[in-house]
Amino acid sequence: MARLVIASNRTAAPGESTAGGLAVALREALTERGGGLWFGWSGETHDSESRGVRLISEGNIDYALADLSEREYEGYYLGYANRSLWPVCHYRIDLARFDDEAFETYAQVNRRFGGLIHGLLRPGDRVWVHDYHFFLLGQELRNAGWRGRIGFFHHIPFPAPEVFTALPQHHRLARGLADFDLLGFQTQRDTRNFTRYMVEHHGAHHLGDGRLAVFDRTIEARAFPIGIDPAEIVAFATSESGRNDADRLSRMLADRALVLGVDRMDYSKGLLQRIQAFGSLLDEHQDLRGHVTFVQIAPPSREGLYAYQELREELDRLSGRINSNYSDLDWTPIRYLARGYPRETLAGLYRKARVGLVTPLYDGMNLVAKEYVAAQDPEDPGVLVLSEFAGAAEQLSAALIVNPYDIPTMAEAIHRGLTMPLEERRERWQELNRAVTENDIARWRRDFLAALDAHPGSEDD
Ligand code: ADP
Repeated sequence: MARLVIASNRTAAPGESTAGGLAVALREALTERGGGLWFGWSGETHDSESRGVRLISEGNIDYALADLSEREYEGYYLGYANRSLWPVCHYRIDLARFDDEAFETYAQVNRRFGGLIHGLLRPGDRVWVHDYHFFLLGQELRNAGWRGRIGFFHHIPFPAPEVFTALPQHHRLARGLADFDLLGFQTQRDTRNFTRYMVEHHGAHHLGDGRLAVFDRTIEARAFPIGIDPAEIVAFATSESGRNDADRLSRMLADRALVLGVDRMDYSKGLLQRIQAFGSLLDEHQDLRGHVTFVQIAPPSREGLYAYQELREELDRLSGRINSNYSDLDWTPIRYLARGYPRETLAGLYRKARVGLVTPLYDGMNLVAKEYVAAQDPEDPGVLVLSEFAGAAEQLSAALIVNPYDIPTMAEAIHRGLTMPLEERRERWQELNRAVTENDIARWRRDFLAALDAHPGSEDD
């Protein structure tokens, strides 16, 4: 079997704390193929430019780690990736900054990393590149002389062309993307957006079966919805530490119903609208006051960026206002915890929550929605309230689907979740759990790699 080479901004190299589902899935993909190479940023920055890679081996996986200079970190990571591409892909042109210098640094890092990876490749390797940090990596590998297959998976949304074209450099990005052979997206909607963009702006022709002729190349665009490992979440939710932490929360809740949100603190997650919806629920349903508590877990992320600092202040203000309106001697309606928790704890809390609130304004997939479903007690499951703009909504249609901008309707969906009869909860949960189990993380990576292996041959075969 061909050796697999993965490139992603961050890796699961020994010592990394990112033990999330994706990291585990990619590590298993490398192991399954009898070993392979994983390239990425080491997580370290230096004042000066450093050029090489550090190789670490664990089992049959080799990790190749490259450092960034402070200038590269600022321009490539904070700058173009997270101040331009992230907001535009999440439909927030209003928050995007377009800076030519940041783009040039992004392009330079893609070029430097492309050269480093190329030096490590062997004939016949399969290369799988991940996410928006590396739009130009395929092109740089081609420039360095690589003719073998390259797959790309886009983890975040691909927006409508009318939005993507706001990026002043979108032509250069498109030309770079066309150097991948297989492009994977989270949803049919993202795949359609990308295809329409290539057809309308770059004259691509449909060749059938998701294949497109564009820039003198044949590429394939398909949806591969990412999943979780449901058995792992069940094990976490029922583990001793998962149950202990859920019990600690139960003591605080007394016998009140729990509404739970778990997110990275990000403006794409719809946190302000969600808190407003909970406030509106209390405004409209007097009988619920004192009987339901909303716990929102949201550790700050990308704190170097102004939009994120501002969001944090607004969240503090809004939850403080609702709490001061409604709190009583023995009840605080909103508990907002700006920190991360171990995965066992999260799974224990998911299982405890009568309503799981997953209401992003836009999200590539949203794994919290799937984790919430997997963690439920089949005999007494909670209700998922899910944004129609989360990629997960394409598979989880048995959730209560809401428009996260429509505050009163979201409040009513929370109410419906809190009062839903057991039989309906069970029926909905069974359907949701089937979708989560069928589309798990193992299927995602196997489907992608099978499609990459099946892609019409390149010079490597
Ligand atoms: P994103 O990738 O945008 O952060 P996802 O919902 O797709 O959103 O994935 C988030 C992952 O991070 C999930 O596996 C989830 O369990 C984990 N996570 C989210 N919030 C927290 C938190 N507060 N503490 C610890 N882990 C978290």
